[in-house]
Amino acid sequence: MRLQEHQSKALFAEAGIPVPDSLLAESVEEAVAAATELGLPVAVKAQVRVGGRGKAGGVELAKDRTAVRAAAERILGMTIDGHLVESVLIEAAVDAETELYVGITIDREAGQPVAMVSREGGVDIETVADERPAAIAREPIDPAFGVHGYQARRAAYEAGLDREIVGEVASVVTALYELWDDRDGREAEINPLMITDPGGDGGGTDDGSADEDSRVVAADAVFSLDDAAAYRQPALAAQAAEPADEFEARAAEHGFDYVRLEGTVGVIGNGAGLVMATLDLIDQLGGAPANFLDIGGGADADRVAAAMELVYDDQSVEAVLFNVFGGITRCDEVARGINDALATLDGPPKPTVVRLAGTNAAAGRDVLDPALRVERSFEAAVEAAIAAARDTPDVETDGDATDGEVSDR
Ligand code: GDP
Ligand code: MN
Repeated sequence: MRLQEHQSKALFAEAGIPVPDSLLAESVEEAVAAATELGLPVAVKAQVRVGGRGKAGGVELAKDRTAVRAAAERILGMTIDGHLVESVLIEAAVDAETELYVGITIDREAGQPVAMVSREGGVDIETVADERPAAIAREPIDPAFGVHGYQARRAAYEAGLDREIVGEVASVVTALYELWDDRDGREAEINPLMITDPGGDGGGTDDGSADEDSRVVAADAVFSLDDAAAYRQPALAAQAAEPADEFEARAAEHGFDYVRLEGTVGVIGNGAGLVMATLDLIDQLGGAPANFLDIGGGADADRVAAAMELVYDDQSVEAVLFNVFGGITRCDEVARGINDALATLDGPPKPTVVRLAGTNAAAGRDVLDPALRVERSFEAAVEAAIAAARDTPDVETDGDATDGEVSDR
């Protein structure tokens, strides 16, 4: 669960990390007013819960009010990686000498947190990690003791920083770790942490918390809450809760486990394992799944209808595969749920393949709406759905024609 930049910056400022002065704006007028209040130049920054905003055109430096207006007009309403920009952060521009990367995350191999510092901050830290891992100083932290002062200093020193700035960067590392630990972070990241020119005015620092003479300032801030700790951090969980897109919001309303993917075969199943296996098989047989959707146990028509509508409404879905294993939930109940759902939808709007297996599968197949294509084997169902997605206008929907020809597995 990722916070937006402005929310993360508020947390960082509370933790004593210097951040530039900023104001949030939800309209072009508000953006111009904010820039006037802060003083120019400013950075105009899209507030979305994804990285790479700079590369996507979601961050712009503006020298005057006209430029602020133009940037806000362009950025508000744009979509970055599927996320609609509904607000921009207007922030006192920072004049940087160097851009660092500072981050805290879990090192999965070591099974403990790690603090990272690199001189190669700015944009793509993943590329740095892949191509020049030595450019990132890594300091494993024992959570029982927290970060020791010498560890924070060593990370800054090993990143190749000048002696006179090591202390300030180390303070940021310590504050970031303590915040990460206190607030149940999964990741806490500053990229870039800007080092300003020793003589110059480094741009605004947040009132109170930041040292006036500080030479480091967090120009970006990422804080992701550990999902499993959401109950311990209700305020942060509420801030992070806005779902990423319309489909995820609808799925959350019904309590479905849903992830939108990039393919064309819509998938509905009961049980996470079955749905994962379905995604794998679609992939193996040359198709591409459009989503993960586990509707869980139970098969009442409302739930099934909500799931089907969700998947049918996704424009990238060309065909739908309903893969059901009847355990406690009987297949004939699921089949009735599907039929009732289709009645409310006036029949399937896209080619739909159903595979029922397990308890009462035969009874379920017998009652299924003939507008559906029924397959008995997992593989045949996946093949049929891939073929239908490839060839949407010309699809066979006659269940009887194929039922019986396919082997059971
Ligand atoms: P991201 O691309 O989503 O990580 O967004 P960032 O907030 O990191 O902004 C992208 C880049 O814009 C940063 O790496 C900086 O180089 C630059 N940038 C952002 N804010 C400022 C600023 O106030 N002053 C300057 N000079 N550059 C900035
Ligand atoms: Mn960044």
